[in-house]
Amino acid sequence: MKILVLNSGSSSVKYRLYETRAWSVLAEGRIGRIGEPAGDAWHRWRVAADTTRESRDVEPVSDHEAALGRLTQHLETQGLLEGLDAIGHRVVHGGERFHCPVRIDEAVVDAIAEVAPLAPLHNPANLAGIEVARHLFPEVAQVAVFDTAFHQTLPPAAWRYALPDELHARYGVRRYGFHGISHAHVTRAAARWLGRPLEDLAMVSLHLGNGASAAAVAGGRCVETSMGMTPLEGLVMGTRSGDLDPAVPLFLQRQAGMDAGAVDRLLNHESGLTGLCGTNDLREVHRRIEAGDPDARLALEVYCHRLRKYIGAYAAVLGRLDVLIFTAGVGENDAEVRQRVCDGLDLLGIGLDARRNRAAGGGIRSIARSDSAVAVLVVPTDEEREIARATREVLRA
Ligand code: ADP
Repeated sequence: MKILVLNSGSSSVKYRLYETRAWSVLAEGRIGRIGEPAGDAWHRWRVAADTTRESRDVEPVSDHEAALGRLTQHLETQGLLEGLDAIGHRVVHGGERFHCPVRIDEAVVDAIAEVAPLAPLHNPANLAGIEVARHLFPEVAQVAVFDTAFHQTLPPAAWRYALPDELHARYGVRRYGFHGISHAHVTRAAARWLGRPLEDLAMVSLHLGNGASAAAVAGGRCVETSMGMTPLEGLVMGTRSGDLDPAVPLFLQRQAGMDAGAVDRLLNHESGLTGLCGTNDLREVHRRIEAGDPDARLALEVYCHRLRKYIGAYAAVLGRLDVLIFTAGVGENDAEVRQRVCDGLDLLGIGLDARRNRAAGGGIRSIARSDSAVAVLVVPTDEEREIARATREVLRA
C-alpha cells in the first residue's frame, strides 16, 4: 500500500509517504511558518532505490489549504502520488468517542470538531488538514489516528478526577492522556525486540521530548498515564509545569493579579525547565551545569525527581515491572537523565549499565545490566510510522 501520513499543526504541516511492503519512505517533509511573511518548506524524496533529493524554499504559505496544495503539487510533480491508497491524519484529541483509529466521514469530522474545546490549539489545525485533504483527494480513504485513543483503556479509577460527576458529564472534565501514538509504537516495538508477547509484559514507557509523559502498560493496554485532560499534567516538561497544586493558578489570579490567559501562558509556555532555569533544551541545561549554574542543576534535579516518582508509582499500579522504556528527544539521547532516573531503583529491579547507557547507537538497544530484573530499553519513537501502520489496519478491516 501507499500511505501518506499528515501531521497538521497550528503553524506547520509535516508529511511522510510510505510504501508499506518494506515500510520504505518515498518522501517526507515539512511546510512551516504557515501564515507568516516568509515560509519554511523542506522536502526530501526518493528518485531511485538508493538516491534521494532534497529541496528547501521560503515562499510564503498563507494557510493550511495553501500548505497542502503545495505539498500535493510537489509530490505530484515527482509522480509520487500515483496509486495512493490512503491518507492517515494525526488528530490530537479524540475525547471519549474514539478508542481506535477510524475511517473519516462526516460524522467523524463533526465529532473531532465537538471535542475541539478540549484541545483548542490542536484539533482545529488537525481538522483543517483533514478538510483540505478530503477536498483534494475525494477518492482516497482517509483515516484519523488519535493521540488520546491508546489511553481509552484506562480504568475509571485512573481517569476520573475527584470532582463531582456533573463536570465530567457536562464538560468532559476527566483525564485523557496524550502521546498515545508514541507509547503504542514503542511498547509494541519493545515487545517485538525482546521476542516476548506484548500480552505478558508490564511496562513503563517514558516519552521525554519537549512535551513529556509516562504510561503504565499492562499486556499492551494502557492502565495509567501522566497527562490529564490536557497535556499540562504530570512530568516536568520543556515549558510546561506538569503537576502542581491546583490552588496555585487560583492563588496567582487572586494575589498576583494574573488573568486566566496569563496563567495559561505561564503554565504552558514559561514553566517546566524554562521556568526553572531559562531554557527548555536539556543539552543547554547540561552546558549551564558545567558552567556552574545552580538554577540549571536544580532544574535537572526537579526533572529527574518527578520521573523517579512516577516510575515508582507506576510500578505500584502495575504490581510488577518487566520493561522500562526511554523514548523521544531526551529519552533517546540524554544518558545523564537516564542514569539519574534509574540510579538507586534496585528495589524495583532496575539495574542500569553505565557503559551501555553511555554508548551511542541507533535503533532499539538495552542499557540494563545483565543481572537487571527489568529490561531497560532505549526505543526510538516513530509516530509517522505508527500512524501509517494504524491506517493500513483500518483499511484492511
Ligand atoms: P518534540 O516534543 O518537540 O517532538 P523531541 O522529541 O524532538 O521533541 O525532543 C526535543 C528535546 O529533546 C529538546 O528540547 C532537547 O531538550 C532534547 N534533546 C534532543 N537531542 C538531545 C541530546 N542529544 N541530548 C539531550 N537532549 C536532547
